[in-house]
Amino acid sequence: MKLTIFSRLVLGYLIIFILVVAANVYVIYQLRQFNTWTQSILSVDNRVLDIHKKLTDTLLSQIEYEKKYIIMNDQALLKNFLKSRDEFAVHLGTIHSLVDSDEDVHILQRITQLHNEYLSLFSEEASLLKTNEQYPHVRFKEEKEKILDEITVMLRQLKDNTQLHTYEKIRNIAESGEKSRDLAMVIIATSLVFGVAISIVITQNITKPLLIVKSKIRKIAKGDFEKNVQVSSPPEMKELAEALNSMCDRLKEVDKMKSDFFSLMSHELRTPLTSIKEGTNLLCEQFGGEISVKQERILSIIAEESNRLIELVNSLLDISKIEAGMMMYHFTYVDLVPLIQNAITGMLPLSASKNVSIKKNMCQLPHIKVDTEKILQVLRNLIGNAVKFTPDGGLVTVLAEPVEAGVKVSVIDTGPGIDSKYLATIFDKFSQATLTKSNKLKGSGVGLAIVKHIIKDHGGTVWAESEVGHGSTFTFVLPVS
Ligand code: ADP
Repeated sequence: MKLTIFSRLVLGYLIIFILVVAANVYVIYQLRQFNTWTQSILSVDNRVLDIHKKLTDTLLSQIEYEKKYIIMNDQALLKNFLKSRDEFAVHLGTIHSLVDSDEDVHILQRITQLHNEYLSLFSEEASLLKTNEQYPHVRFKEEKEKILDEITVMLRQLKDNTQLHTYEKIRNIAESGEKSRDLAMVIIATSLVFGVAISIVITQNITKPLLIVKSKIRKIAKGDFEKNVQVSSPPEMKELAEALNSMCDRLKEVDKMKSDFFSLMSHELRTPLTSIKEGTNLLCEQFGGEISVKQERILSIIAEESNRLIELVNSLLDISKIEAGMMMYHFTYVDLVPLIQNAITGMLPLSASKNVSIKKNMCQLPHIKVDTEKILQVLRNLIGNAVKFTPDGGLVTVLAEPVEAGVKVSVIDTGPGIDSKYLATIFDKFSQATLTKSNKLKGSGVGLAIVKHIIKDHGGTVWAESEVGHGSTFTFVLPVS
């Protein structure tokens, strides 16, 4: 199941929230435990110790009154003894309701039993005392002392046990305090790590497809309309990728329609244009009869403009062919030097008419595998542009040298230069950087696009370097294969 960005965010934060709640629940549980133990110390152990003291006091009072009564036989003393006995019994009952350990219950039962034995001994002795006869009071005394000693021992043990319980509870509080501190720290650290991990995963889930889409949009801007964006999740991004792919389809269709249109139009235009050119030439050569100087001037303008149109149509045909992948290449191993020379010679009439000199500086070059016609086209275009854009009295220099990557050819001019903002797009179709509406230099803007395609199809690279007012340098490197 592919989760949407929204569900991923909700799920991620829910997990962090659950972890934080779990940590809090644990801490609350521990605090309740502390509370229970503290309450137990305050309401049980402290009270047991308090009543223990009262028990000891009332026991001592009983012993004191009982001893005095045996000596003085005074009813007031007996009354006091009975009062202490009752108080002792009440305290014993209270303490019984507080203790819960088996050992303590057993101790209390034993104290009750011993106290009862002590009381029955006392009442037996009291009865004998009333008869005023002789009785073995030493034996009574010894037996009572023995019982009271044991009660004292039992009471001490009860006190020790209670104190031990208190220490145990305090130790428990300290131990579980440490444990819960450790566990809370572990949970907090886990939540933190988990939180960061979840954030990274969710962000990556969103940014990764976004980067794919971004790079595709950049490619579309450069004319790559292949629909190849593959994003399977999250669903929102998948939809975006699908929309982008269908946009590519549509763009491809439109681009093909445009190329087809150019190709058709170029074909349809070339034949009549060639006829116009040939006819004009014949008329100029006076095949159709004598013509006046004025007529000759008009005819030569028509011939020149037909030539420009034929060149434009040829360029458009070339670019359509290249874009349709139908450009054919015939590769042979050649020396570029004569090719360059040939291209320069072809440009001499134009350069002479513009008073632009062409200088060359060529080293010996290795033979490379090229389609001579196409490379001539490249050279003519670059040198032609250089001459075209260089003003009267300027200089065009053609350099050729072997480099590590192959053969490097540069065409340098002293023309107006190209603004840096156009340098990146200068090789795109119909891009004309230097021309303004008022500029008299006319062109189609496809020459450099053809150059780029041809060099690319030869496995080479081409680029332009320029600074406004300081001329331009167009360079291409062809590999030695
Ligand atoms: P065009 O037929 O317009 O010359 P290109 O594709 O050959 O078409 O050139 C595209 C644009 O590049 C030109 O219109 C011009 O603005 C610029 N350009 C090309 N070469 C030069 C150069 N040597 N100096 C200045 N600008 C140039």
